[in-house]
Amino acid sequence: MANKQRDLAELSVRQLRSRRRRLARSLADPETTLRGALLNQQRRCGKPGCRCATGELHGPYTYLSVGRSAGQARLLYVPAAIADAVRRRVELTEVAEAALAAISAINLELLARRELEP
Ligand SMILES: [Zn+2]
Repeated sequence: MANKQRDLAELSVRQLRSRRRRLARSLADPETTLRGALLNQQRRCGKPGCRCATGELHGPYTYLSVGRSAGQARLLYVPAAIADAVRRRVELTEVAEAALAAISAINLELLARRELEP
């Protein structure tokens, strides 16, 4: 991050604005936003005599972990039929959030130079 800030300081106002425009255009449709982390887990069903009781677990199944920290995380089951779509949304959301952070860093740099548009 410190490197990034130094990079921005070396760019002209025109370059900063052009980079900001590129980042803004790269943003996905906000309606697809989905925050979380996908993970695969195997499960024990609990039925007596099931193969999982002897260690041969069911799955793996896909879950979306949502929540700010591990302690508050909640797991949502993701049906296999939509797992790829969910994965794409989560990845696009990560890219979009990185782009928003980069746009904010550029705007901070422009503000510091008194070049932020009113
Ligand atoms: Zn079982």
